[in-house]
Amino acid sequence: MAAQIIIVDDDPLVGGLTLELLTDAGYSALLLADSLKAQDIIKAEKPALVILDILMPGLDGLTLLHRLKSDPATKPIRAIIVSGKSFEAEKRRAAQYGAEAFIEKPYDVDLFAQKVEELMKKQGVEARKPALAPAAPAPIARASVEAVVWGCRASGEAAPAATRYGTHTACVSVETPSNLFIFDAGSGISLLGNELMKNGKHKLLWLFLTHFHPDHVEGLANFPCARDKDYTLYISGASDPDKPLEQELKTVLEAGFGNLMPPAKIELYELMEQTYAILPGVRLSVFYANHPGTTLAYILQTEGRKIVYCPDSELYGEYGTALQDYDEKIGAACRGADLMFHDGRYTAEDYKKNRNSGHSSFLAAVDFAGKNLIKTMVLVHQDASYTDDTLEAMDKEAQARVDKRGYKVKVLLGREGLRITA
Ligand SMILES: [Zn+2]
Repeated sequence: MAAQIIIVDDDPLVGGLTLELLTDAGYSALLLADSLKAQDIIKAEKPALVILDILMPGLDGLTLLHRLKSDPATKPIRAIIVSGKSFEAEKRRAAQYGAEAFIEKPYDVDLFAQKVEELMKKQGVEARKPALAPAAPAPIARASVEAVVWGCRASGEAAPAATRYGTHTACVSVETPSNLFIFDAGSGISLLGNELMKNGKHKLLWLFLTHFHPDHVEGLANFPCARDKDYTLYISGASDPDKPLEQELKTVLEAGFGNLMPPAKIELYELMEQTYAILPGVRLSVFYANHPGTTLAYILQTEGRKIVYCPDSELYGEYGTALQDYDEKIGAACRGADLMFHDGRYTAEDYKKNRNSGHSSFLAAVDFAGKNLIKTMVLVHQDASYTDDTLEAMDKEAQARVDKRGYKVKVLLGREGLRITA
């Protein structure tokens, strides 16, 4: 039967993702990659709704929209414009040409579903939800997922010159057979960049920034992949009203490239506390961490795994008051994660001196992991001044805490080069 919805998107990943979301919601959908041929196919198929990307070679989505809405035969078809660019001018043009909605990429899962359902209802089309109770979920393919710590120190003076744990600042990668996700761009990202340039496996990189303190972005200006025009970087982060993401990033990049922009293709995504569908089978949830300034933490769900990255975050632990519900809030979001990277900056003693600075006692992080059934917890963001002796003592104390309290979690102290198969 004819498709109820036609998607026109030249990017197979984004197009595939849109298709997946629509199919999951119970609609029949067709994906077209060639925008030049799309108009004739849409006219023949007469779907209830079209979803058009803006930037496409051949014919851009706004022109296609204009043509569809100018033809009496296709005018009644509802249209959603999707784009990574959130410029007001394009939104206005889309509305002028008759688009019923404009959705920004990456997709906010709930918002996307809600918009589509709303427009389809107006067309008198209901999603074909299964009539019977849903069958047991199909077994999830569990391809290998490997996380690597490239840097996990906080910035600061007095870093020990040589240490087995490393002195590079925040950067963790998560690799699946088809994708590479990078969390933060502290100085450790140059080590990752060297490996990527050598193995050449991934040319499209997702980079999720938690915030713009130097220990999370200082490596970006020297990231080898940003200096290579064959790479595409999708950079995501928070936007403050007074400090837009674009501005923040420009400052960081100028440190390495001056007024020239890096040769790699860069696209920016501003994120909020939402769940986004970023690729087929990949969901990213964002929450605000308890840290000065707008600081994000990420929950990545892919290949049946749940992986949390939250390097700057103050858990209140035993010091929490009835009004401080941060531990409970993120506990609910992270519960049962296969792998979690969390702030374990301070020894219990140093934490007492540094309360309310936005960082945790490593013991609070261990307790958090035990209570929330995290399978593997990696303590990161160690204080820059800590020597191997201090870090080893913390590691021992963490293991003792797990044993004493009967937690099921496996706790690892973060160090440069640590590889974890999730
Ligand atoms: Zn930090």
